[in-house]
Amino acid sequence: MQFWVPDRVYFEPSAKETIVGKRILAFCEDKNIPILHTTSHNQVRGLPGKDEKAKYAAAKKTLIVGTKKSLQLEVCKPSAHYQFSLMTNCPGNCEYCYLFTTQGKKPYVRVYVNMEDLFHTIDKYIEKRLPHATMFEAASTGDPLAVEHITGTLKDTIEHFGTLNRGRLRVVTKFSNVDSLLDAKHNGHTRFRFSINSQHVIKNFEHNVDDLEERLQAAAKIAKAGYPLGFIIAPIILHENWEKGYREMLERLHDYLSFKKKSVITFELIQHRFTMNAKKIIEERFPNTNLEMNPHKRVKKWGKYGRVKYVYKKEEVIEAKEYIEELIKKHFPYSHIQYFT
Ligand code: SF4
Repeated sequence: MQFWVPDRVYFEPSAKETIVGKRILAFCEDKNIPILHTTSHNQVRGLPGKDEKAKYAAAKKTLIVGTKKSLQLEVCKPSAHYQFSLMTNCPGNCEYCYLFTTQGKKPYVRVYVNMEDLFHTIDKYIEKRLPHATMFEAASTGDPLAVEHITGTLKDTIEHFGTLNRGRLRVVTKFSNVDSLLDAKHNGHTRFRFSINSQHVIKNFEHNVDDLEERLQAAAKIAKAGYPLGFIIAPIILHENWEKGYREMLERLHDYLSFKKKSVITFELIQHRFTMNAKKIIEERFPNTNLEMNPHKRVKKWGKYGRVKYVYKKEEVIEAKEYIEELIKKHFPYSHIQYFT
């Protein structure tokens, strides 16, 4: 298991006075991490590094602590009604990461401390949809588990949702440091999903995140703590021997979670996709990548704002979907496959 420790932490002045800010200060003091100041979490100057590559690496080891000003929540389909951010960017370094196109050249990790404002906003959005329940996704702009040992804000959020009759939370992670969340008063209102993949994908394309065994051990702990549980298999990559890779992954999952095989575990399946912009950035960042991104081997799919994504061909998608769904049903007959996209 890895606990990310930043090399430097920048604070916006007002962030230091908050409960979460004080927690982060205590973490920095304990670990002897230099504390710096910035007027805005959107503008951090003076990061070390003589070239782009060094600056990028320094940014990945930099934490910015600030307040989130815009509390307008975005719609989050297909997994929830809305999404919100406890943090932006991620200490992980997965080659296919969707964040590459949004984080720019300085992928420093930002965390937000104004939890009261966030909870107030969440409550307002829930109110608007009453009497229906409203589902929120907390991991669309980064992996909050990656910094939970520093901020504790995911636990605060889980406990807030624990008190809400019509609010539900979903989290997804590739990290396994769940111990601090096991005694949270979640009230069954947070569905905890682990993002998993074949060993081939994890070994070749995921860096600075926890390995499959660690994620599965964490999933078993979360299940024992009574949280609703789910898995996101993403991105599904049709690499050589992908059938064997995904079969073995689901067998391992079954080994760890056979005690839950009669409960409703959710599965979300997402095939690998890329935009030409993402391909360019990924190839710059990982010049030796083995990630297959040949547009001639794929078909176009139009996404939000007319953006073109490249996905697998229809017959490949059908084959992968049928194969993986059958394995899931075999190992977890009571599971609910929410979507394959
Ligand atoms: Fe991106 Fe998730 Fe990997 Fe972090 S863990 S780099 S958010 S894919």
